[in-house]
Amino acid sequence: KEFRNNVKPNWCPGCGDFSVQAAIQRAAANVGLEPEQLAVISGIGCSGRISGYINAYGLHGIHGRALPIAQGVKLANRELTVIASGGDGDGFAIGMGHTVHAIRRNLDITYIVMDNQIYGLTKGQTSPRSAEGFKTKSTPEGSIETTLSPLEIAMSAGATFVAQSFSSDLKQLTALIEAGLNHKGFSLINVFSPCVTFNKVNTYDWFKENIVNLDQFPDYDPTNRMAAMNKIMETNGMLTGLIYQNTERQSYENLVAGFQEQGLANQDIQLSQDQFEKLLAEFK
Ligand code: SF4
Repeated sequence: KEFRNNVKPNWCPGCGDFSVQAAIQRAAANVGLEPEQLAVISGIGCSGRISGYINAYGLHGIHGRALPIAQGVKLANRELTVIASGGDGDGFAIGMGHTVHAIRRNLDITYIVMDNQIYGLTKGQTSPRSAEGFKTKSTPEGSIETTLSPLEIAMSAGATFVAQSFSSDLKQLTALIEAGLNHKGFSLINVFSPCVTFNKVNTYDWFKENIVNLDQFPDYDPTNRMAAMNKIMETNGMLTGLIYQNTERQSYENLVAGFQEQGLANQDIQLSQDQFEKLLAEFK
């Protein structure tokens, strides 16, 4: 169960994404997966490189499109465990339409967002997760837009699993990814993953001071949807832990008639040589 490969990440030293990579590798091993049972599909951004750094099937897709690809992979091969991953710009800006509909569709996919509240790969522009007043090259006078709340959006889109963690808390992050992998439906795990090079506001120290860890509330019930919404708003979205889980709603795969059968990847497709060549000709 070796999910490490010999590709050296080219993230900046100290980037939060290193811990997310380690947590995925540990969680995949802890839930008993073999590398050939896992596919990691990523979008574009510094965090999008993660699919190349994990010893599993991987596809580094296009900007904001990790989720459509991941859903296609899952539908074609339902035996695979599928993780989609990317940054906040990737998933909550260009990819937000896909994110909302993937959440409400509830296919059995774990979506891990490395939320650094800035665009790192393009050298530091304001993202939908940047705070009001945040100054970057794209907002030199400070952002005048409202910060997007992915947790509130996920809850209102009918999410069945919503969690948030911090890349410094490897133990909690690993446990949440394990829970997401075990959840039968779509899991959103938003991870505060500092960009040490371009975001000098939302630093490791800043997160440590501002995070509210749900582990401090032993009575918190993650099956209570109203309590989850209240907690998200009370903490201004800064809470970490398992925020909400609905184990009663069935996944998309289970609700579609005939989906219990094997996916396309495992079907015995019988094509004659003529039919095969005709099919190929359509793509020439
Ligand atoms: Fe990480 Fe920021 Fe460096 Fe990108 S630019 S690798 S997000 S620290």
